[in-house]
Amino acid sequence: MSMKHFAVAVDGPSGAGKSSLARSVARELGITYADTGAIYRSIGLAALRRGVDPHDAAAVEGMLPELSIRMEHSEDGEQRMYLDGEDVSGDIRLPEVSMYASAVSALPAVRTFLLEMQRRLAREQSVIMDGRDIGTVVLPEAEVKIYLTAAAEERARRRCLELEQRGTPRPFDEVLAELKERDWNDMHRDVAPLRQAEDAILADTTSLDFAQSKTLLLNIIREKLGL
Ligand code: C5P
Repeated sequence: MSMKHFAVAVDGPSGAGKSSLARSVARELGITYADTGAIYRSIGLAALRRGVDPHDAAAVEGMLPELSIRMEHSEDGEQRMYLDGEDVSGDIRLPEVSMYASAVSALPAVRTFLLEMQRRLAREQSVIMDGRDIGTVVLPEAEVKIYLTAAAEERARRRCLELEQRGTPRPFDEVLAELKERDWNDMHRDVAPLRQAEDAILADTTSLDFAQSKTLLLNIIREKLGL
């Protein structure tokens, strides 16, 4: 790799394939993949476990100083999340945690609490970081910014397939409604709403399969970095 240190910011709505694509691209480029949604999910899980209303700013804020959130990246690029020392990488994927994560992520105190953690990671190594505000707020100086999206129906279809393969199928209409609600929340919150950064490149994967989407991302990155 000709560049010493670089950051790739990948933002977009839920279910656009950000995590699986970014993970795969990271492996190909030999850099670290950082899933920032997992950090918000850890705070959401903490609220859920403590019976804290995720919309109650004061209650969530009050809980933050008591929390220890740690992110670890193993040699093979896997990211694990620790909440108060416990590996919660599995639990944060529970469906009920998604809405909790979306609610707590709208709170300014939560975003401030997590900002430095994300920036530090990008300072220490080359990363591809996915989330909602990476290109706009967390890493505004990122060398490459990609806004990854796909039509809501297509994203819901992919999510349903994934749930089916995991043995936990759910009705399409329910999945679609939830996905749209989360998109709306993420795009309309006051702090760090989801939007395409002015200097981000739009990647729409509605009619692309995984391999085609990955090639698209790699081409964008290589072209931007001159690799
Ligand atoms: O990406 P994922 O679906 O795991 O993220 C869970 C929730 O965390 C999102 O719905 C969003 O509200 C929030 N999030 C965020 N900013 C990020 C990453 C995730 O607000 N950078």
